[in-house]
Amino acid sequence: MALGKDYAAQDCALARALEVLGERWTLLIVRDVFYGVRRYSDFLAHLDIPRAVLAARLQALVEAGVLDKVRYSDTPPRDEYVITEMGRELWPALHTLSAWGGRHLSANGSRRVFAHAACGTLVGPNGICPSCAVEVPVTDLDVLPGVYSPRRDDPVSRAMRLPHRMLTPLTCEH
Ligand SMILES: [Zn+2]
Repeated sequence: MALGKDYAAQDCALARALEVLGERWTLLIVRDVFYGVRRYSDFLAHLDIPRAVLAARLQALVEAGVLDKVRYSDTPPRDEYVITEMGRELWPALHTLSAWGGRHLSANGSRRVFAHAACGTLVGPNGICPSCAVEVPVTDLDVLPGVYSPRRDDPVSRAMRLPHRMLTPLTCEH
């Protein structure tokens, strides 16, 4: 899913990354995967994204090696989307970008915050736990509602009203 011929011709690592991640919705899908969203119907409910766009973005992320598509039911055929090792490496960039948006572009601040599960302390925008002075791996983070918490009423938002360990599957009741 190239952004354009001229852009694709850029011999630049950032351009390569944006070829994979730079389209509208893509990073929000990746963010939801970190929250534990795995199923098409859950992405759809949480993101209010057109079906065809969601299907195309998921397909592109699988082709790029960011997500794996894993069959969890044969009748009817249903797949889950699980992040790969390569995809996991996106967490620090995603977290920094989100903190930047909260600081400069969102009058209400961040909707969600992240705590070091071992000690309960909120991590800083650099991903470091101020209590333990370590960079916390995403698997050791809990995501919880921030100060600004609009009551969206979709299955994913409901499941995320309580603290939830990052990357563990969210149970969403439809
Ligand atoms: Zn800590």
